[in-house]
Amino acid sequence: MTIINLDVLAAQVRGEILQRGDDGYDAARAIWNGMIDRHPGAIVRCTGVADVIATVNFAREHHQPLAIRAGGHNVSGKAVCDDGIVIDLSPMNNVWIDAHARRGRAGAGAKWGAFDHEAQAFGLTTTGGVVSTTGVAGLTLGGGIGYLTRTYGLACDNLLSVDLVTAEGRLVRASEAENADLFWALRGGGGNFGVVTSLEFQLHEVGPMVATATIFHAIDDARQVLDFYRGFNASAPDELACYAMIVNAPEGLPDQAGKPVLALVGVYSGDVEEGKRLMAPLAEHGSPLMAVVDGMPYAVMQTAFDAGNPHGARYYWKSQYLRGLDDALLDTIVEHTKTFTGEHTIIGIEPLGGAQSRVEAGATAFIHRDVPYSLGIWAGWQSPADDAANIAWTRTFFDAVAPHGAGAYVNYLGEDESDRLDEVYGENYARLLEIKRKWDPDNLFRLNHNIA
Ligand SMILES: Cc1cc2nc3c(=O)[nH]c(=O)nc-3n(C[C@H](O)[C@H](O)[C@H](O)COP(=O)(O)OP(=O)(O)OC[C@H]3O[C@@H](n4cnc5c(N)ncnc54)[C@H](O)[C@@H]3O)c2cc1C
Repeated sequence: MTIINLDVLAAQVRGEILQRGDDGYDAARAIWNGMIDRHPGAIVRCTGVADVIATVNFAREHHQPLAIRAGGHNVSGKAVCDDGIVIDLSPMNNVWIDAHARRGRAGAGAKWGAFDHEAQAFGLTTTGGVVSTTGVAGLTLGGGIGYLTRTYGLACDNLLSVDLVTAEGRLVRASEAENADLFWALRGGGGNFGVVTSLEFQLHEVGPMVATATIFHAIDDARQVLDFYRGFNASAPDELACYAMIVNAPEGLPDQAGKPVLALVGVYSGDVEEGKRLMAPLAEHGSPLMAVVDGMPYAVMQTAFDAGNPHGARYYWKSQYLRGLDDALLDTIVEHTKTFTGEHTIIGIEPLGGAQSRVEAGATAFIHRDVPYSLGIWAGWQSPADDAANIAWTRTFFDAVAPHGAGAYVNYLGEDESDRLDEVYGENYARLLEIKRKWDPDNLFRLNHNIA
């Protein structure tokens, strides 16, 4: 372990600096994925831009590895390091809404629950993730998929400007008008270019009530329901996003206890009555175990999956974009439900297309504009004794579906998947490299899926 003298840094920051043995150190180094157990030399809980500048300068001058933590939700756990310094942005979690201008700014430590809470007070929001405890910053910098992607594009497509501290310790703003190269790279390029301190978004009228659908089917019916799901989505308007998820049966379905079930989860981001009408067929098809199509506050819908992804459980993910949902792929997915494992495991099919696909592939670092679906094999469990079985199941399943793949999403890459960056960025990688050389030539920001 490298011992660093932090007195100089302590004199320059307002936030707490936590080291091994300090109260709060273990809580501050713990992240969502309990598989990650790292011991940073220091965790700097930044209270503002000045703290971030001081910490970046200190890490650079003392040649310390530097990790950046926002929501702490990334499965790869790159937000924490062994030794070195963690810039913990979680205290910088304010959200400011300008309802008149329809703009919202989030501090880099804000989570989607806080963003939606503030924005929904005005019947506004932007595309965010579907779990309220995920960080706004990490999700947006990698792209950002959610119920509103088909209506309003990815989270990063809604960015208006980003404030960032560079490797030299300078605060700059990136937007279409200022540092446009950096702005291009930040929309999909992750944490490679500096420490983002706040993000400004375009807001849209959504909710507060939206139409939602929650339908559960027995796993034996999954194959024919997925056929129906494919057909339903083929004619769905952009405002309608319907996810297909295979999850452990929830408590409300005691007959299915211990078995996986297929859930169809829909959100319509326009008029509530129109959404209910459009999603009625989801409830009418087949013999659902439970089917509810109704209005619900958007902010509540955004928490629907929170409990299914408990903080600190053990997780291992593999995922890919899909060219479509062909029969062979659906057969393979259903086949692997027979060996479904892990108390918190989810097999998720996310619908894309719509507004996301109307952005040019070269317009932002996020290149995958023409893919209709993403498939996630998101294994989650509690006991370390189950690590090997869950990891093996995920890998075997992924190998079987890999031939249907159409690229990878940086935000879903596991710790062992940084070699998939060609699948993430394709032809945009060369430009990302150029921009990386300009803004971070010494690769200070390398504890990420690194563009180097
Ligand atoms: C339960 C769960 C649900 C999810 N749902 C969705 C979803 O619906 N849609 C979706 O698109 N993704 C989803 N994700 C994936 C999510 O987008 C990524 O995990 C994302 O990285 C989380 O961001 P964070 O800020 O919480 O994570 P962190 O672990 O804090 O950050 C991840 C990485 O992002 C970079 N980073 C973060 N903040 C900054 C910053 N301020 N400046 C520079 N770099 C930074 C760093 O490299 C850091 O290592 C989900 C993840 C989980 C665990």
